[in-house]
Amino acid sequence: MRTLIIAEHTHTKLGKTTFNLVTAAKTFKQDIDILIAGFECDTAASEAASISGIKQILKADSKEYAHQLAENMADLVVKLAKNYTHILAPANTFGRNILPRAAALLDIQPVANVMRIVSPDTFARPVYAGNAIKTVKSKQPLHILTIRPTNFTAASRNEYDTEDADIITVSGTGDKGLSTYLRRVLSDSRHPPLSHAAIVVAGGKALASKTNFKLIEDLAETLDGAVGATRSAVDAGYIANEHQIGQTGQVIAPDLYIAAGISGAPQHVSGIKDSKTIIAINTDKDAPIFNMADYGIKGDLFNILPELIKRLKN
Ligand code: FAD
Repeated sequence: MRTLIIAEHTHTKLGKTTFNLVTAAKTFKQDIDILIAGFECDTAASEAASISGIKQILKADSKEYAHQLAENMADLVVKLAKNYTHILAPANTFGRNILPRAAALLDIQPVANVMRIVSPDTFARPVYAGNAIKTVKSKQPLHILTIRPTNFTAASRNEYDTEDADIITVSGTGDKGLSTYLRRVLSDSRHPPLSHAAIVVAGGKALASKTNFKLIEDLAETLDGAVGATRSAVDAGYIANEHQIGQTGQVIAPDLYIAAGISGAPQHVSGIKDSKTIIAINTDKDAPIFNMADYGIKGDLFNILPELIKRLKN
């Protein structure tokens, strides 16, 4: 049968996660379709069609998908589900909003946060805040999976001499009328988004104030990186919630992760385990973060960070 990927996009641009999900889907060795549900979303559909190894793009271009409300999206997924053995969405707020609803309507147990595909019906996923990996085998006829994008490399686009996938128009299922779009609040765009940044600079409770947290933002800006934080720093109001990394925040896998004034609690560490290089700055030589850091600097972040920023700028 076939695999369906529910694509995250902004109507005019395809989300980067789709490229990672295509790599995940290729392990099933069957035809892959991508669903682009949106409004005036031709550009996103064309972009999806250019990814190598895709059979067809299902384009549902209609007002009821203008804001990708979960109730309307889930209904569409249910309508399409009969043609598929695997339905994938990213394990982020977009996918987690839609797929569990679709799974409930289809009476299927979804498998969340898949980090490795062992075989077409067997998947590895983190449990206990990432401290253990559980391998689950699903005996259901349909596998509904949220996939951790950072665990799969991004698929490439078609070569010049390869044809793009066909774009097929599918009709919508109408507005369920269960939710209404009110407004979109845009986040601070000075820094790249946490989920895809190559460099992340994160601060913890030790920053002690919103004003001091600017040190983290300044270093991130100097390195063209994203800003991260622990839950303690977020709860204390030093930085907005969208910057939280960890079990109840975002899971990241940057090339470089700099943790300043962060103890390394398991709930935080579960979100940074896949970082390629970790640098930790902490006054306490016994801080758990040093156990997983590639480079550790024992010292006061209020001395180290300004010096680092100064040297990087010169
Ligand atoms: P602390 O643990 O207080 O550590 C501060 C560190 O700064 C210490 O190691 C200290 O030595 C060091 N320090 C102090 N002064 C300086 C200085 N001047 N220079 C350098 N170092 C200094 N946490 C998350 O981050 N993400 C989550 O998603 C998350 N989810 C959770 C879910 C649940 C259900 C629960 C119970 C907790 C969760 N937590 C989460 C909270 C987590 O348990 C920790 O409390 C939190 O991560 C600690 O944050 P911190 O490292 O900033 O603070």
